[in-house]
Order: sequence, then C-alpha cells, then structure tokens
Amino acid sequence: MSLAHGRPTRAIPGPSMIPDRVLNAMHREAPNIYEGELIEVTNQVRAGLKRVARTQHDVAMYIGNGHAAWEAALANTVAPGEKILVLVTGRFGLGWAEMARALGADVELMDFGTDRAADPARLEARLRADTTHEITSVLTVQTDTASSANNNIAALGQAIRAASHAALYQVDCIASLACERFEMDAWGVDVMVAGCQKGLMTPPGMGFTFANPRALEKRKTLDRVSPYFDWLPRLNPELYYQNFCGTAPTHHLYGLHTALHMLLEEEGLENVWARHRTLAETVWAAAQVWSETGQLRLNIASPAHRSVAVTTLRTGPDDGGRLRRWAEDQAGLTLGVGLGLDGATTPPGDSLFRIGHMGHLNPPMLMGTLGTIDAGLKALGIAHGGGALRAAANVIGKALETPAKTDAA
Ligand SMILES: *Cc1c(COP(=O)(O)O)cnc(C)c1O
Repeated sequence: MSLAHGRPTRAIPGPSMIPDRVLNAMHREAPNIYEGELIEVTNQVRAGLKRVARTQHDVAMYIGNGHAAWEAALANTVAPGEKILVLVTGRFGLGWAEMARALGADVELMDFGTDRAADPARLEARLRADTTHEITSVLTVQTDTASSANNNIAALGQAIRAASHAALYQVDCIASLACERFEMDAWGVDVMVAGCQKGLMTPPGMGFTFANPRALEKRKTLDRVSPYFDWLPRLNPELYYQNFCGTAPTHHLYGLHTALHMLLEEEGLENVWARHRTLAETVWAAAQVWSETGQLRLNIASPAHRSVAVTTLRTGPDDGGRLRRWAEDQAGLTLGVGLGLDGATTPPGDSLFRIGHMGHLNPPMLMGTLGTIDAGLKALGIAHGGGALRAAANVIGKALETPAKTDAA
C-alpha cells in the first residue's frame, strides 16, 4: 500500500511551493512585448525587487537561474587574473568559486567547514594582511543551502570596513531573499545575486544581480564584458528589449509581479521574515526531539548560525536516503537530498536530508511535513525521540499566543 495519493508536497529548498495565484497570473495569452501593460508590470517588478533587497540602487534581471546570476555578477566585476576571496560554509560558496575559476579568476578559498557560519574575525585578519589590496572581491552566500548555515552578512561587511579594504562585497541571497532579513544598502553590500524560485515563490527561470555605484564603477573599468550579461544596457535601457537583451520572460514577469504583491503589499516584508523565523524554529524544535536518541541531529548546532529557509539533518549512514525515498513513494512528500557533506564511505547524500521551509508556507503545510517525517522514522525503525510534533506545535502556539481573556469587571 502507498498513501501518496493526494496533493504532492515539496519540502525542498527550491523550487519552493508556488502559490496558485502566481500560477494563475501566468495562465494567460502572450502579451504585447512592444508597448502597453507589460512595460508597466516590468517597472513594478523592478521596483518591488529593490524593496525586497532593501536597496536604492540598480537591479539587472536575466532569463536564467541562480547560476546565470552568479555568472552575471562575475562577468561585470572580475577580470581574468584578478584575485578574489570566497568564503565557504558548505557547497554553494564553492560552486560560485568554481565558476569564477573557470572564468579565469585567481580564487582563494577561506573554508569554515560544513557545520557553522563564517567567522568575521578571520575575514578581517585576512584582509588586513592584504596590504596591497590584491583581493578585488569578497564573495559569500547568506544561506548555504547544502549545510543550512546562515552567514552574518552585516558582521562580515563590518569586518571588511574594519580592515579598511577596498574589495567589493558580493553576496549570494538565492536561498535567503524574502526569507531572512537582508539589508543591501545598510550592510554595505556592493553586489547581491538572487533567483526567483525560492523565497520569491515563482517557477525557476529568472535571476537577478543588484549593483551599487561602487560595483558599476568596477564594471566600467573592464575591457570586455559578455554582451548578454553586461549590466550597462540592462540598467539603463533605451528600448524595452534591452531589459532582457531580447524577448522578455513575459509570463514569469506576471507571476513574479503577483508574488511581490503578496510579499510586499499583503503580508509585509518584516512579517515575511518573522513568519520564516517562527516556521524555522518549529522545524528545529521537532528536530531537537528526534535527536534525543543520537540517530539523527541538526547539522548546524548553534541556532545563531542556522538558516531560516532550509534545515539539514545528519542521519545514520543510509537513513537519510531511505527516509527520502519512503516519503516520496509512500506519502507524496519530497524532501531535499543531501548535498556532498557526508563521509566518503556512503553513497553521496544518503546520510543527510534537508527540509526546505521557504516561501509559500504555513503551519498546516509545515506540520504535515514534520508529521510525515515522524511517521517515516517510525515506519523505517530509525530510533528517534518521541513528542516532536508536540514540541513543534508549541512553537507555533507560542508565536501566535494572545493574552488570556479576563472577564470584564
Ligand atoms: C539554489 C541556489 C543556487 C543555484 O541556483 P540555481 O537556480 O539552481 O542555479 C545558488 N546559490 C544558492 C545559495 C542556492 O540556494
């Protein structure tokens, strides 16, 4: 028997669950791409993205995924042979670093392991030692989606300033934008990259690079930039088609327009961040109880270092894979695969699994996921502490608590 017949649930760290309203906004005929409504929708999407990023500066939009946004940022800011420093807290900093290396950059890695966030003091010390300012950019992710570490972007920016270093500060917010607080201008971030399919709740297909005047100055010093990725025409288009270097992603723009309206106008960005924090604490509470037997545990021990968008759990050698397959086949729940953090002796990923808790998510959706995992642990005989769901419900109950009613005198 399988119980997987019903609406499938994805609890993976992107693509995240897509609101029906976003899908419905995309279900329409092709619009006029020369004039009319689409131009206004595009302008509103641009303005909305800047509000989500908390920046007054520019955003270049691409038809592409997060990798396209990575390449776009590098194409406009790093010349071949230049030295850059990449902070690594799992897999995703490494991925951006590998791309930079393929584009000819001289890449230095600063590795913090896979179970914690980057240490600002180490960054500051390295930059102080770079007295000739050979390093032209510092790259980091906010959330590393593989380890579920969350880096303190404000503190790392402070470390760069404390070292009085001129390097551009570039941050990957692909997994964290519209989940975790992010303040591009206030935190001194020069370049930020994002995609539409995680916190922004839209099908994969659009990538973004935000750039401040320092980053644009750097772009202007480069001799040759890929014409497709070049910021300059995209940021100051004389003709509409220059926004996307060709045909616009028409239907994605309608979908994203609706998603941004839901986030900014209906819920409010601060509330979006608070909801993600509460739902993340709900996952952590359940995971803490499951961990009591020592058969599984949260990959990031310190809550201050954890992402609010995704949680990585470490399990016995094959248990992560067994649980994922059970959830998919028996219960209609897709969990995130483990990405390259486990020991060499097990098949990649099978001693880990990830719970995505980003985007369009509320307590019944999340409690369904946690309850299904709890059932899977029982079905597969993976030892776990009892009472995880009660602990999870307590977090939600406490967050939404209202003062007890008292009889009016
Ligand atoms: C998902 C993700 C990427 C890659 O995005 P794609 O759309 O899959 O290319 C890069 N960085 C982070 C932090 C991510 O979570």
